[in-house]
Amino acid sequence: MSDLEQNQAVAAKYLQRFKDNVTGHFINGEMLIPEGAKTFENPTPIDNSSLGSVVEGTVADIDAACDAAQAAFADWRDMPGAERKKVLHKFADKLVDRAEEIALVESADCGQPLRFMKQAAVRGAANFRFFADKAVEAKDGQGLHQPEHTNFTVRSPIGPVGVITPWNTPFMLSTWKIVPALAAGCTIVHKPAEFSPLTAAILAEVSAEAGLPKGVWNMVNGFGEVVGKRLTEHPAIKAVAFVGETTTGSRIMSQGAATLKRVHLELGGKNPVIVFDDADFERALDAVVFMIYSLNGQRCTSSSRLLIQSGIRDKFLTALEARVKNLRVGNPLDSSTEVGPLIHPTHFDKVMSYMESARSEGATIAAGGVRRDDLGAGNYVSPTLFTNATNQMKIAREEIFGPVLTAISFDTEEEAIQIANDTDYGLAGYIWTNDQGRAMRLSHKIEAGMLWINSENNRNLPSPFGGIKSSGIGRDGGDYSFEFYMETKNVCLAHGTHRVPVMGR
Ligand code: NAD
Repeated sequence: MSDLEQNQAVAAKYLQRFKDNVTGHFINGEMLIPEGAKTFENPTPIDNSSLGSVVEGTVADIDAACDAAQAAFADWRDMPGAERKKVLHKFADKLVDRAEEIALVESADCGQPLRFMKQAAVRGAANFRFFADKAVEAKDGQGLHQPEHTNFTVRSPIGPVGVITPWNTPFMLSTWKIVPALAAGCTIVHKPAEFSPLTAAILAEVSAEAGLPKGVWNMVNGFGEVVGKRLTEHPAIKAVAFVGETTTGSRIMSQGAATLKRVHLELGGKNPVIVFDDADFERALDAVVFMIYSLNGQRCTSSSRLLIQSGIRDKFLTALEARVKNLRVGNPLDSSTEVGPLIHPTHFDKVMSYMESARSEGATIAAGGVRRDDLGAGNYVSPTLFTNATNQMKIAREEIFGPVLTAISFDTEEEAIQIANDTDYGLAGYIWTNDQGRAMRLSHKIEAGMLWINSENNRNLPSPFGGIKSSGIGRDGGDYSFEFYMETKNVCLAHGTHRVPVMGR
């Protein structure tokens, strides 16, 4: 048996139950399918055959989940941090136990190559452990001293929160958003993306196995315009953590306005990677390829604009083109596959529309640009490189969210900064130079929430993660997550020495 056949056989074993049974909601500790519920089909990007059907949530389902989250809140909030820590560590253990299942199901459901999903459960578990340990200190505040008063602050969880996630790497993103909320003492209602709902169901199951009290974790499937919208409007929900498109983020802010929702928005990007003449050529080349073609280019922090300095442009683009043409596109369940199929035929069509844009605007399609028909009925696009592009072209301005890179040439540092910042987005940026002074100057001048110098995206859990401009509002990671999921209260204690103002004596 080949590696692919072996993985397909194991994946089939894990996927069978989703084919045999409708995937339901998880409300108040129960997997359920409301009576008379409608369902929708969940196709796999591998060949667009169905992985089974999923219950299509209604406003009543979201209301039931929010009520459960509200009812469970006080006990979860009041549980000592050390107890929450134990439960969250148990959750991590259970995820590791199911690592193979999570990797294969995720890969089949969203088309991400198994090579990148293999570690998903372990990384998700590490995330649980990090915030489990922090649960103990979540309430801690500051001591702020005055001559005759002492102020101290305490934090308390904000309440039940809504978590709305996209389809690109659903398992990891869900754990990033949900675990800090639980560690802080919030209860949650999760609305996973309709294109990739399966690992959200596994996470909900694990929450019960790990012993989370009923109602602490709730999950409702369905469409954004119905259940997502209701979640952002529900009065019991105090904050919404959202990952997705910029236009949806803006809608969520207005939907939540009437109930004064606190929102954390992680949105799109058109992130520059700037390679200067003096960069370490091979390391920069590896990183440029990795940061756009890994995860099928369906990655918010992908470096989708390459700004290449003119002195090394020709040599770099020639080497890059060869690499792009050499990428192994194929079934995501094959361990050797580097680029898998795009999530859905509608997204495939959107990505392909940029090939026509590139042509009509005068860019060169140096690699790719076509469907991989030889790979069957799945949503396979050949990894694409656009050269001779300018930053004014649509392919340089819009988030394509596929394995598509737009290369733009520049001469000077000032020009690189100008092009990098000439975008609506501001999520991430990557700078390759061996000039330390230049790296420092760019660190201050590039408009982005996150910059990596001489590195691909490296995630550090205590560090802030998030964007500026149209890429979002708020930060995740370490204490930044607690700032979002908690309220800070100031308590002011007098020392008994100050003069209390007297009136009407
Ligand atoms: P999307 O905005 O279409 O959907 C995201 C989620 O929002 C889904 O669960 C959807 O059902 C829900 N939704 C849709 N309309 C809604 C509404 N009116 N109210 C409430 N919920 C609603 O995004 P997508 O296409 O699933 O994901 C791709 C996008 O996500 C890209 O733009 C990508 O850059 C972004 N993303 C950002 C980050 C980040 O950290 N900044 C990470 C991953 C993905």
